Amino acid sequence: MAAYDVETVVSVHHWSDRLFSFRTTRSPGIRFESGQFLMLGLEVDGKPLMRAYSVASANYESHLEFLSIKVPNGPLTSRLQLLRPGEQVLIGHKPVGTLMVDGLLPGKSIYLFSTGTGLAPFLSIVRDPRVYERFESVVLVHCVREIQELAYKNLLQGTLYEHELVGPCARERLIYVPTVTRQPYETTGRITELLESGRLSLLTNLPELDGRTDRVMLCGSIAMTKDLGQLLEHRGLALAKAGHGGHYLVERAFVEQ
Ligand SMILES: Cc1cc2nc3c(=O)[nH]c(=O)nc-3n(C[C@H](O)[C@H](O)[C@H](O)COP(=O)(O)OP(=O)(O)OC[C@H]3O[C@@H](n4cnc5c(N)ncnc54)[C@H](O)[C@@H]3O)c2cc1C
Repeated sequence: MAAYDVETVVSVHHWSDRLFSFRTTRSPGIRFESGQFLMLGLEVDGKPLMRAYSVASANYESHLEFLSIKVPNGPLTSRLQLLRPGEQVLIGHKPVGTLMVDGLLPGKSIYLFSTGTGLAPFLSIVRDPRVYERFESVVLVHCVREIQELAYKNLLQGTLYEHELVGPCARERLIYVPTVTRQPYETTGRITELLESGRLSLLTNLPELDGRTDRVMLCGSIAMTKDLGQLLEHRGLALAKAGHGGHYLVERAFVEQ
């Protein structure tokens, strides 16, 4: 069996000069849990050029969706950003990743903290009914530099709540908090600042995040996952290790060089 499926691009959407999304067909052999990532790429000079990509679509959907950065001169993304509908990409069969709700101990609220493309796995998770079965409140915080980078804002502030499968649960339980760091916006500041100042509690109308009741997933840069990890440990949350449920889970959104 070939290591990669050839999938066809169905649509492409450019959010900004740094960020875009695309949808592809999905072969029946591609299975994944909400929150996992797959290897995705293009054939370049007769060889696969592959990178890890979190799946942004729900695991029951017939297409696959990805949210991508555009790295200037990036080996893959300088090519990937030129994709047009009808063109082909390679997608691996083996889903990987730690951001799965089953890896967490039971709790009352789950906080999904993301920066940039770290939003991608959470787009899959908030479209999965299981997260609403396990948690009373699902708080999704997306922190970006500029307003334009608040990808999927319309979904998260509107159309998701009309979704046939998860709309009613999302209306009752999902709280979306977009925050911007380099432009004036209704909510500004890093996630650590929102937590330390108590502003997140005011914005969500929930008690301050507490390890006794709350669970967390982090997806972003090394700096973001490090700073937030430390803050969570101070609040009594323990990192979930493979096979042992914990209070929080971490996935880096990319590898820094
Ligand atoms: C577990 C995992 C999941 C990932 N999921 C996604 C995803 O859903 N969407 C996505 O766009 N990328 C994701 N990445 C990053 C992805 O694998 C590639 O690095 C990215 O597509 C750039 O590829 P490139 O070949 O153009 O540049 P690379 O040579 O891979 O990267 C060059 C540099 O660009 C920067 N960079 C790379 N990716 C990002 C990013 N996402 N945000 C900000 N800076 C970045 C880093 O400084 C990196 O060193 C993920 C990485 C990991 C480890």
